Amino acid sequence: MVAATYQLKRADFIFKNDNDWEKILDKTLKRAPQELINELMSSELKGRGGAGFPTGLKWKLTAEDSSEQKFVICNADEGEPGTFKDREILSKVPYKVLTAMAVCGHVIGSQQGYIYLRGEYKFLVPELQKAINEFEYYCQQTGHEFSIKIFLGSGAYICGEETALFESMEGKRGEPRNKPPYPTSSGYMSQPTVVNNVETLAHTFTIFKYGAKKFYDLGVQYSRGSKLFSVSGDTPKPGIYELELGMSLQDFVNEFGDGDTKAVQVGGASGFLVPRKRFEKTTIGYRGKLTGISLPTGGSMMLYNSSRSMYNVLDNYLEFFREESCGQCTPCRVGCQQLHSGIKAVKRGEKPAQYLDKLLKLTETMQLTAKCGLGQSVANSFSSIVENFREEMIY
Ligand code: NAD
Ligand code: SF4
Repeated sequence: MVAATYQLKRADFIFKNDNDWEKILDKTLKRAPQELINELMSSELKGRGGAGFPTGLKWKLTAEDSSEQKFVICNADEGEPGTFKDREILSKVPYKVLTAMAVCGHVIGSQQGYIYLRGEYKFLVPELQKAINEFEYYCQQTGHEFSIKIFLGSGAYICGEETALFESMEGKRGEPRNKPPYPTSSGYMSQPTVVNNVETLAHTFTIFKYGAKKFYDLGVQYSRGSKLFSVSGDTPKPGIYELELGMSLQDFVNEFGDGDTKAVQVGGASGFLVPRKRFEKTTIGYRGKLTGISLPTGGSMMLYNSSRSMYNVLDNYLEFFREESCGQCTPCRVGCQQLHSGIKAVKRGEKPAQYLDKLLKLTETMQLTAKCGLGQSVANSFSSIVENFREEMIY
């Protein structure tokens, strides 16, 4: 069943200057872990990094593990092309994220948190460290045992994948592990670990401060609450916007388009390209795919107008994937290279247009056999661009 859609609505929770974090921290840490899990579950918050896994369930599964050592990791390796919201959260309202990490520690039974920060965000470190020092000082004064360290990445997109992130933190090559086991039972140093995106943690602050109902009342069925969207491309209003989930893509384009939008890439390079004819039918939320409702992934929304060549757009994405594939598994390593050289050959007339169908088959194989989300999601942009703009791909 497709959820009902409604007009685009703005929200204002994430960047609201709630400067009472000490009070929220004290109050929340007094509550029983199970009560906090129930509150998160009833808010129906889903992971805002992209995949949309229920946050309450992730905390619950980790809390249920009886291991002595556990970790809380804030994934700030924001690398999806077109996504730049987490950087703003960490620079404008870091205390919300730090508070949420400590609350997560209380719920799962962990005293140690890490922020895995994208290498390119090194410039955020001095201010973030200052906020952490202030936060830890308050924790020491009030008897809350929780400390937070920053771990700086080295610029590899794949290290945003949670298991590659653990490998990187453990001093190894940043290559994804097989899942399961999921981090909830075996994560950093093989111990149960909650990995949450920066924005997800910031939403838990809202939920613990204002109550689950306030969050649940926003959005639509299966897609509750608000979400930050990074808006870029052919738009007169580039920037970061907090919007309620559930709007149609047409409403989004009416608000942010330049009057000539021919397609929107929803969810960055690993997301889908939606052509104009599907704007009305596509809803921004967590259920289904392009048949009627689309995934927001990390919230990257790139608008393209009719001056853009969709061949160039695809060429750009494939160059990115080819470069960022960690090379560990053959379908992704070789597949990315073949897709990239394949579209070039078709465009130059060295291969017939039908060769695109072979490449589409190759993306299906990659979706089924690649080891992690990177290789599996190349098919999303490839097939949505080739199927909707085939005439722009050929000689
Ligand atoms: P995934 O579906 O494998 O997992 C999502 C989360 O749910 C993970 O934390 C995983 O551990 C957890 N999970 C799933 N099933 C579970 C289970 N049965 N028990 C316990 N935990 C479970 O997705 P993923 O590979 O982690 O992420 C893919 C998403 O990340 C894509 O949507 C992609 O667009 C997005 N992404 C975002 C960025 C960014 O910068 N924000 C960058 C790259 C990719
Ligand atoms: Fe590495 Fe790509 Fe395989 Fe993922 S799918 S493990 S990025 S080669």
